[in-house]
Amino acid sequence: MTDTYDYYKETLQTLRERGDLRRLPDVEHTGRRITASGRTMLNLSSNDYLGLATDTVLQQEFLDGVGGEDRLLSSSSSRLLTGNFTACTGLEHLLAGLFRREAALVFSSGYHMNTGILPALTDAHTLILADKLVHASIIDGIRLSAARCIRFRHQDYAQLERLLEQYHGQYPRIFIVTESIFSMDGDIAPLARLVELKRRYPGVMLYVDEAHAIGVRGRTGLGIAEEQDCIGGVDLLCGTFGKALASVGAYVVCDEVIRQFLINRMRTLIFTTALPPLNVAWTRYVVERLAGMTDRRERLADISTLLREAIRSSGMDCVSDSHIIPYIIGASPDAMLKADALQRHGFYVLPVRPPTVPEGTSRLRFSLTADMERPEIDELVRCLRDDAKNGDGI
Ligand code: PMP
Repeated sequence: MTDTYDYYKETLQTLRERGDLRRLPDVEHTGRRITASGRTMLNLSSNDYLGLATDTVLQQEFLDGVGGEDRLLSSSSSRLLTGNFTACTGLEHLLAGLFRREAALVFSSGYHMNTGILPALTDAHTLILADKLVHASIIDGIRLSAARCIRFRHQDYAQLERLLEQYHGQYPRIFIVTESIFSMDGDIAPLARLVELKRRYPGVMLYVDEAHAIGVRGRTGLGIAEEQDCIGGVDLLCGTFGKALASVGAYVVCDEVIRQFLINRMRTLIFTTALPPLNVAWTRYVVERLAGMTDRRERLADISTLLREAIRSSGMDCVSDSHIIPYIIGASPDAMLKADALQRHGFYVLPVRPPTVPEGTSRLRFSLTADMERPEIDELVRCLRDDAKNGDGI
């Protein structure tokens, strides 16, 4: 007789044999360092790009000054009921002002944002044209929407243009969907070019996820759209607070009509408890200081250039143009071995495997933060160079 759970056991066994089994790592954090399996290592796998999550001085300053309802640890309700605190509407006004857009709307997480916006704004008369490598949360949003979706080859804008040419007469609304800094390859979409492209066709809107760029890029830290001077041309300019901003939640800046529509139709906004006021007040505190964090952005840019150039000069391909730097290995078991070897050298790097990345492109993903020091990167580069010389000898 078969056990009810046989299917699950067998599937897990297959994943284990392929080297693709996932587990929740047991880790302890001490500032920039992480302790796992008895080893204390430099954390090269976090999204704390500006080093704010480990900045206890900044956090204490915030906690010393926070008062009133901003101290609450729960909103106890959806924003459409009693959970709409002034911390949240204040943050939205702040964001709209900084981006110089009509409106902003805050969500509980980037996952809520990406699984909620497209299903709300699209219907069977909508076409979604999404970059092949957009994040899983965007894919899930597309799956939940009634729209037809075509995924164009990664950053193949000639193909995108052909699709727009072919379909613009057939659909009253078309969404182009992309990330700005891609989460697994660290390469960057030419947003200004996409704005120019979408303006050539009626009914085309641009949806951009800046999760990995907000705080990190642009003169005042507003992301790649600021860097490429096209904020006003992106219909839905989205980002998250859980990475460089060291908080939790997400936002879109957009026109007021879109904000109103989302408040009426977006299920992941309507049917979930709003973020705790304390978290939102912290996000606002960080966003207010973002423009003044140029030093951190420059330091991050410098060490990122160092690592990218070292990888390239060792003969490896590196498509990254940011602080997210993949080191492609290929097979999952090899990626696991390499990650383990680097961990033994004091660098906490994790293998990224399918289904997060395409089959055969398992990799190490270096995710740099502004508080890393040059000698640490030099040592990492030395380990990688030795590896390139000696095969698996990291
Ligand atoms: N968008 C992108 C591009 C992401 O990489 C992620 C998370 N890694 C998300 C959205 C989800 O954001 P959150 O963690 O806030 O749910």
